[in-house]
Amino acid sequence: MARMAGKMALITGAAQGLGAAISHMLAKEGAKVTLTDINAQGAADTAAAINAEFGADTAFSFAHDVTDETRWQEVLQAGHDAMGGLNVLVNNAGIGTIGSVEDETYDAFRKVQAVDVDSIFLGCKYAMPLMRDHGLGSIINISSIAGIIASHNYVSYNAAKAAVRHMSKSIALHGAKTGGKIRCNSVHPTFINTPILDGVKAMFGEEEGLAKLARQVPLGRVGDPEDIAYAVLYLASDESKFVTGAELKVDGGISAM
Ligand code: NAD
Repeated sequence: MARMAGKMALITGAAQGLGAAISHMLAKEGAKVTLTDINAQGAADTAAAINAEFGADTAFSFAHDVTDETRWQEVLQAGHDAMGGLNVLVNNAGIGTIGSVEDETYDAFRKVQAVDVDSIFLGCKYAMPLMRDHGLGSIINISSIAGIIASHNYVSYNAAKAAVRHMSKSIALHGAKTGGKIRCNSVHPTFINTPILDGVKAMFGEEEGLAKLARQVPLGRVGDPEDIAYAVLYLASDESKFVTGAELKVDGGISAM
């Protein structure tokens, strides 16, 4: 029995990287998926590949800037209508910058908060009323291990991902208080091999760049997108129906040190 049979999920930032892997995993387990991204062509291409593998009308895609309040309402409704409902929202789209509090510009700081934090406020605010109509609902917010462990030169990203962690708990408690049908949890990856690591690879060369990061991970490697997709699959499915307000660290042991 497929683990996501009958479920309908919207995933942001789904053109590439973790969003694409999560969309593929949920579709493989029987869900209908709506892929959104500011890179509309990338989202369309990923949706087409999913449909080619799992059948027509498994995946839909829409252009979506997650900082745009009006567009959130439009794509949630469009995804809901295309799939026949909405049970799962994966707030995955995110960006990061490198800079200490003295180096970072205020504009860069505000931009990271808008894409990583405001997006989750908007997505949850407008998805929850739609989700209540369709059985049990699950919201998964992709934070980072950087939301738990700080670095001297990730001031914007540390602030944003810590906000995602705590906001997820507030949303979880609200979901519990308003009928208990909608859960909300955060996922905290460490370094995962997606295009987000292109900068590190360009700086040190692919092999040495990944090796440098792997040396910081007790399990001795950088994660694969699938490692995160499996965690999201558990939280999205009803297997986790008693889990809300949790923070699932998928970090190869970094936070145990
Ligand atoms: P990625 O850069 O490969 O993909 C991010 C996607 O988000 C892209 O498709 C991009 O077009 C989209 N996006 C960017 N700004 C957007 C906007 N304003 N509106 C809509 N879409 C937008 O990154 P990834 O590694 O797949 O990261 C996905 C999530 O996982 C992010 O929230 C990131 O912070 C988090 N994360 C990643 C890692 C990692 O090492 N890969 C580690 C911890 C957390």
